[in-house]
Amino acid sequence: MSEKIKETTPVKLPPHSVSSEIESGPLPSPLPPERRVGYAIVGLGKLSLGQILPAMAGCKYSKPVALVSGDEKKARKVALQYGIPETGIYNYYNFDDIKNNPEIEVVFIVLPNSMHEEFTIRAARAGKHVLCEKPMATTVAAAQRMIDVCKEGKRKLMIAYRIQYEPNSRLCKKWTREKTYGKVRIITSFHGQNMGDPDQWRLKKDLAGGGSLPDIGIYNLNTARFLLGEEPVGVLASTFSTPGDKRFREVEESVMFQLFFPGGAIANNTCSYSIHANRYYRCHADDGGFFGVDNGFTYGDLQLEVSHVKNNLEWSARPSLGPEKNQFALEIDYMSDCVLHDKTPYTPGEEGLQDQKIMEAIYESARTGKLVKLERITKLDAFRGEEPE
Ligand code: NAD
Repeated sequence: MSEKIKETTPVKLPPHSVSSEIESGPLPSPLPPERRVGYAIVGLGKLSLGQILPAMAGCKYSKPVALVSGDEKKARKVALQYGIPETGIYNYYNFDDIKNNPEIEVVFIVLPNSMHEEFTIRAARAGKHVLCEKPMATTVAAAQRMIDVCKEGKRKLMIAYRIQYEPNSRLCKKWTREKTYGKVRIITSFHGQNMGDPDQWRLKKDLAGGGSLPDIGIYNLNTARFLLGEEPVGVLASTFSTPGDKRFREVEESVMFQLFFPGGAIANNTCSYSIHANRYYRCHADDGGFFGVDNGFTYGDLQLEVSHVKNNLEWSARPSLGPEKNQFALEIDYMSDCVLHDKTPYTPGEEGLQDQKIMEAIYESARTGKLVKLERITKLDAFRGEEPE
């Protein structure tokens, strides 16, 4: 009788190189298509079409099965491109009909920020799990409602903080937690881009919730919390918008904010909507070293950097983890793993709610010019679920 085949165990091939070479890791072992978790993608804008749907091709446990869009023609075209049946096309009005589509297990919300609440709640009430883009909402109250409704319906809610699933940042987190280069005292981080059309939703307060802070500054904020595992106890911030610049009539242009952590570390962050795109972070430690990720918040071309003193010499390097993995595929497959194995997501709604609370404190500090104290939370990784493997 033939041996039972377990499809999730990777095929093993003999090595091509000597053992001193970098091991490329096990071969992919995808689930058969019919057993992968089905996703409905809500909102067919730049992120869905440019990153999320293409990344699905590299997923091992996930597949797109439905699209939700206000533009039927676009949805039909994208459905053809990705092999999604016509029965999997919905609009914002008949969205609730997804409850009758058992192929859909997770709804991935990729809409303007203020729409995340409505579609998370409608998805959970339709019996689906939710993967929601950052920022999860535009207010603390909305974020709390999203968590409550998902809890009530026993649905999983994960916020798409892709940096927390990205290998270079995961290594920096390990170095920070294990004090590999000493204790991290200062994190400096920068996230900038130069906005065009003043009428786009990102520059409208009611749709975006704010300007550069909730859109890109949230990366500085969330990454500092992730690296340290601690929650800030205070924040000092200022915002600036160039007078007369039409792009910043409703939302702020630049934000500078410092986060003070209970273990003594400070994160010094800048985000801006009016400069050439540039995104990095660096962790400065006290035992002869610093490390970080250049291009750290981008989709690709990330460069790990490390500098440390050894044998009375300063060694600076840009080590590579090998060929880059698609961050979106890693994040989406992690959500599928949570659904398949009933795990609490590493970045659940509570993780997004905490960012929302801190962002409100950042705006308060900028408004009042004073340090705003935050609730003292002593537990490490207080809001995170199960660590990705
Ligand atoms: P986008 O403007 O390209 O797409 C938004 C989509 O929402 C469009 O298809 C648009 O038609 C639709 N939409 C529905 N109602 C709308 C309305 N009232 N006004 C404007 N658009 C409306 O935006 P995007 O860049 O795809 O961003 C979508 C979400 O994804 C945002 O929450 C954003 O913060 C998040 N995002 C995350 C990342 C990441 O790396 N995780 C990157 C970019 C964007």
